[in-house]
Amino acid sequence: MDPSIEKQIQTVGQRLIKLAREKEADLGAARKWENALLDWCMKSESLRTRAFRFIDVFPDLISPTATLQHIKEYFPSSDDRIPAAIRRGLLLTHPRILTRGIIHRLTKNLFAKIAKLFIAASNENEVLPLFNTLQKKGCLVSIDLLGERTMSEKEADAYLGRYLTMIRELGKKKIGPHEQNISIKLSSLSPDFCAEDSALTSKRTRSRFRTLVQEAKRQKVFLHIDMEHYEFRDVTLCVIRDLLSEAEFKSGISLGVVLQAYLRDADACLSHLLSWAKKLPVPLTIRLVRGAYWDQEVMHAMKQNWPIPVFTNKEETDAMFEQLAERIMTHIPKVRFACATHNVRSMAHVIAFTQAKNISLEYFEFQLLYGMGDSIAHALTQLDFKPRIYTPIGEPVRGMAYLVRRLLENVSQASFIRFGIHEKQNAKALLAPPEAATLRKPKERKANHTKARTFNPCPPLAFFQSTPQKKMIRALEQIRLSLSQEVPIIINGAVERAHRKFHVHSPINQKILVSSTAQADAAHVHSAVHSAAHRFLMWSRLPVSKRARYLKDTADILERTRYELAALEVYEVGKPISEADADVKEAIDFLNYYSRAAFQLERDETTHNFPNEINFMRLQPRGVAAIIAPWNFPLAILTGMSAAALVTGNTVILKPAEESSLMALKLFEAYQKAGIPDGVVNFLSGAGDLMGPDLVRDPRVAIISFTGSKKVGLEIASLASEAHANPQHIKKFLIEMGGKNAAIVDETADLDQTIPAILDSAFSFAGQKCSALSRLVVVDTIYDRLISRLVAAAEAFRVGDPSHFLIKCGPVISKAAQDRILKGIAQAKHEGKVIFETDSKTLPTHGHYVPLTIAVNLPEHSELLREELFGPLLAVIRTKNFRGALAIANHSQFALTGGVFSRTPSHIECAKNEFQVGNLYINRSITGALVGQQPFGGYKLSGTGTKAGSADYLREFYVARTISENVSRHGFAPL
Ligand code: NAD
Repeated sequence: MDPSIEKQIQTVGQRLIKLAREKEADLGAARKWENALLDWCMKSESLRTRAFRFIDVFPDLISPTATLQHIKEYFPSSDDRIPAAIRRGLLLTHPRILTRGIIHRLTKNLFAKIAKLFIAASNENEVLPLFNTLQKKGCLVSIDLLGERTMSEKEADAYLGRYLTMIRELGKKKIGPHEQNISIKLSSLSPDFCAEDSALTSKRTRSRFRTLVQEAKRQKVFLHIDMEHYEFRDVTLCVIRDLLSEAEFKSGISLGVVLQAYLRDADACLSHLLSWAKKLPVPLTIRLVRGAYWDQEVMHAMKQNWPIPVFTNKEETDAMFEQLAERIMTHIPKVRFACATHNVRSMAHVIAFTQAKNISLEYFEFQLLYGMGDSIAHALTQLDFKPRIYTPIGEPVRGMAYLVRRLLENVSQASFIRFGIHEKQNAKALLAPPEAATLRKPKERKANHTKARTFNPCPPLAFFQSTPQKKMIRALEQIRLSLSQEVPIIINGAVERAHRKFHVHSPINQKILVSSTAQADAAHVHSAVHSAAHRFLMWSRLPVSKRARYLKDTADILERTRYELAALEVYEVGKPISEADADVKEAIDFLNYYSRAAFQLERDETTHNFPNEINFMRLQPRGVAAIIAPWNFPLAILTGMSAAALVTGNTVILKPAEESSLMALKLFEAYQKAGIPDGVVNFLSGAGDLMGPDLVRDPRVAIISFTGSKKVGLEIASLASEAHANPQHIKKFLIEMGGKNAAIVDETADLDQTIPAILDSAFSFAGQKCSALSRLVVVDTIYDRLISRLVAAAEAFRVGDPSHFLIKCGPVISKAAQDRILKGIAQAKHEGKVIFETDSKTLPTHGHYVPLTIAVNLPEHSELLREELFGPLLAVIRTKNFRGALAIANHSQFALTGGVFSRTPSHIECAKNEFQVGNLYINRSITGALVGQQPFGGYKLSGTGTKAGSADYLREFYVARTISENVSRHGFAPL
């Protein structure tokens, strides 16, 4: 940097800090509640978490009793002593003389007071007075509307209405777009805002967006488009570009976009914005921010095992901010610059740079958040700038989520306001240039959080990015052309002749022939078991390292062909694209996870040794394993069960579901390509009821690993236990069956989070998951609110051809399944009331499609509440309270998955102890267990209690032998 500019940065920066600190001293008294609360929160990490969680849940505590209960639950110990200032606020010093009603009201008042520090007005009527107040202080305004997440067309319309009202209100000032400014979030304008399909998202969002832009133009109000999560960035820019290229706007309209400096690829994004701006007839305003979603970005990327898209080090973001600011400023006047920060160094840099380059004030401005940067805004006005205050409008107590974010920012380790203004740290250090050398190029980075994991899972494909998106589209086209394949029977490496074959058609469209599959018979079963038994000794004697190597090589093969496999799955079983990819990812994870876990198990386990005696347990493979799999996770489940058997030294008969034999064949071929010797894995395709019993009964089969329906599972358990004329062992069986899974929603559930999770759990992949949600138990007080939003959101949940990215629900697997589910819907109408059903006119006509359905008032004895339907029918049950809800949820023969949506600690704790399910999910979707992270499996009639995706699972494939050796000789113990 030019030394004269750096010198000027220091001078201006020192001056701004001094002015801001002086102002802060004046503001201090007005902020006593906030400061007291923040000081208290900083006492410990745990307290801070609980305090913010309480602030978050409070708006939903509708009764004084609930408020008191939650205060007690969130702050149970005397160590949580609330500081005197807040205690006085709550009048908790004399709790005995306070009624619950008074405590509730006082808490509400206190939060309203704090909220008002950050949320400027509750509705459009308060906007103009606020506008005038800020104007008098020498500031400009940008209005931001707070609200709930948009989940339905109705909610998107409501947002549009609010924005229009606000634009008209601002327009009344008649002072032009520079003064009248509103910030909007595009995701609020469509329930279908989806990063994976930008063209369709753009089409669906643009109609409301266009209305806004037209009105803004009429009213001479400036529209600034906010930027949200990283995944939404490109689609947001795509919608804006598409709109601006419409004929109506070709002559130009002044709009603003946002660039987030914390993103590692922000520089590339800016290049894109600048080349676009060059072609626009009016300057594009670029608001440069550091970025407001840092925690979410990091958490999300860590969970997916994706590279973290944001800088994890504050210095890097600071350096990027300056670099971007300078690039933007050098492109003035094609762009206008809005520098949105509370960091005085960054502001001083802009001031020094614009002074050095003689850039006029009309081309740049500063933006600060209402209630956070007041003292700095004041300092800027003293230097004759007119800072713009980004001002949230909304009901203050309802706007708590926003408030929590702001409070967190204030206490964050990176907050300039905290260190620079409140704590008055050394100004020279605060103004030091950020270390640009720490900037790394995006391509050099790796997922740097993997070291923290014991197992490094395969990341799902990031379909919001264009490369994976394009590759997937190409794979779908190619696979579509290569269908109609033969699926043979393969025993000891050789293809066997089959007397019968059957055709498998795609559930998406019956005209698409997927495969012609051979039907195995008793003779094939006999010879496949013979081959596996014959190879058992050789395979079981291999060192575990060798067997694990085969598995890892198989994983690599699957990974190299993951696009084709996912595309095939879309056609073979009708899975939506991202779920098909998740199935392939899970298969790869099973192979890698089990190959790693097997090492630990094959070590002898010492029990207790004496000088003259050693005692240990050694595990030994069982023999021939029959692997019988369902069609709904056609790759992952077959892979998981067979990989566990193989790595532990057993030989295998693969018996895939008849509906998904082609996917299964791909696994078999991968095992072959990885070099697993012939006969170790044998492939028997065909209908299970025809050859399954022979396989299960065969006395040489030592272990059966089955996943499928309750009916077949129980049959297998019974057949496997039958006495044989010449028994050689008691067969071991691992049986994983279905569920009738319930989720409970209590009065404190956050509906913005709960409703998408419910829809995803019940309807994605048409509810054809063992873990899918089919019973929703809702407590009285939230019932009506939940139902009206749930039904509206269900309307926006699209059913259609799953080879399109936006579709999360495709067809059901077969005509038989379609008939069964339609019968179930008719039964629901007869026994209770259907409150939502997808309009059948919107369903494609070629495949096995069924409407999504929500039913209420079903009688307790209804079969629809007891038996698995395996389709997208959600039954909602109303109940009085959480305890009652738990009793209803537990009233089931199944115990597979379950969910709780609540922010009441005692309810969550109670569910952890008493909810009878193998996998319990709290405040999230109840499907999607990950290998190594959420070992999966149920009990009661859901299964034998084994946990797939854990090291324990492998134990089931061994028998344990205890060995005790006397090591002394003639009374001498070894040294
Ligand atoms: P299904 O029971 O009809 O078939 C499962 C497998 O068993 C298929 O390979 C089939 O050919 C075979 N089979 C059928 N009759 C047989 C017999 N008499 N002897 C031996 N094998 C026989 O199940 P599906 O329709 O493929 O899968 C859906 C079911 O699977 C649902 O009930 C679902 O809940 C369950 N499921 C459970 C889990 C879990 O982990 N618990 C996971 C996925 C699916």
